[in-house]
Amino acid sequence: MKEDYYEILGISKGASAAEIKKAYRKMAVKYHPDKNPDDKTAEEKFKKAAEAYEVLSNPDKKARYDQFGHSAFEGAGGFGGGGGMNMDDIFSQFGDIFGGAFGGGFSGFGGGGGRQARVKGSNLRIRVKLTLEEIANGVEKKIKVKRKVQAPGTTYKTCPSCNGSGQVTKISNTILGRMQTSAPCTQCSGSGQIIDKKPADADAHGLKVSEETVAIKIPAGVEDGMQLKVSGKGNDAPGNGIPGDLLVLIEEKQHEHLQREGDNLHYDLYITIADAALGASKEISTVNGKVRIKVEPGVQSGKILRLRGKGIPSLQGYGKGDLLVHVNVWTPKTLTKEQREFFERMKDDDNFKPNPEKGDKSFFEKVKDMFS
Ligand SMILES: [Zn+2]
Repeated sequence: MKEDYYEILGISKGASAAEIKKAYRKMAVKYHPDKNPDDKTAEEKFKKAAEAYEVLSNPDKKARYDQFGHSAFEGAGGFGGGGGMNMDDIFSQFGDIFGGAFGGGFSGFGGGGGRQARVKGSNLRIRVKLTLEEIANGVEKKIKVKRKVQAPGTTYKTCPSCNGSGQVTKISNTILGRMQTSAPCTQCSGSGQIIDKKPADADAHGLKVSEETVAIKIPAGVEDGMQLKVSGKGNDAPGNGIPGDLLVLIEEKQHEHLQREGDNLHYDLYITIADAALGASKEISTVNGKVRIKVEPGVQSGKILRLRGKGIPSLQGYGKGDLLVHVNVWTPKTLTKEQREFFERMKDDDNFKPNPEKGDKSFFEKVKDMFS
């Protein structure tokens, strides 16, 4: 699992652009390679902070990250699983920040004591079922969510075990000598605070369940199995902690007439032998209502009509898929006496004999075309 960008910078989800910049500057100065020569851990932290800032300082990327988490940048144009930036990239991109920080000689950016770990509330998970129409157009869903919130009237005091630092230091004697290790405080779970007073209906952490309606904006183009993140709509954390996230699993309902394949849609159109011979105007379903399409006289069964842009919009915003209409000529399974006589008469007519021309592509050629 990749670390949360906000956690890397030690800020809350609601941090302003100025706060994000300040937090990054602080991290960058602290872990700067010049200050930590040959320290691989510091270098890693420095790179992670740069990656986090690269995303959170850009309003578009930040919005995508807030909604989709790290999956927003997987695949093309992403960081390729982390560690994709080198030091030169970092310095060229953030020249203004480093110029200020290092030119001025570190003043005001000291390590700073009293850093408290902020405990994060647990995440909540829900499923949302969407129709293809909702997926094609984007939708806002208002969902009732039961989340744990801080009970009004709960007060906190400094944890006596760690004096509010959230960390306890243990000294133990080992064969290598005296070892000093620090670990999160168990009494306050690292938050530095414990409950002073709480109302009767609150749980041991000063939280109680409340039902809230959360508006979830679902962008066009999502897919079955995808997970969206609504930051801060999970369970609250006790004390000064930050709330968890609401994770929304997308489920796609099967459409009555349309089959989805990536951003493209498929529709099976059945026409009569007469329609195939004479041509016809047919109504078909799309994700934006019914449309009429023209079937040319002499159409062959298996022909694919492509309606450009009538598919699903790409989630990344690169245009729309197509709607592919598959023509199927329906052959009657039973015939009346008159119909039988009609076909008997036509059977040996030259016009009824199959005569594929160069323009009538085979099924395999059509499939090849579709994917090229
Ligand atoms: Zn404590």
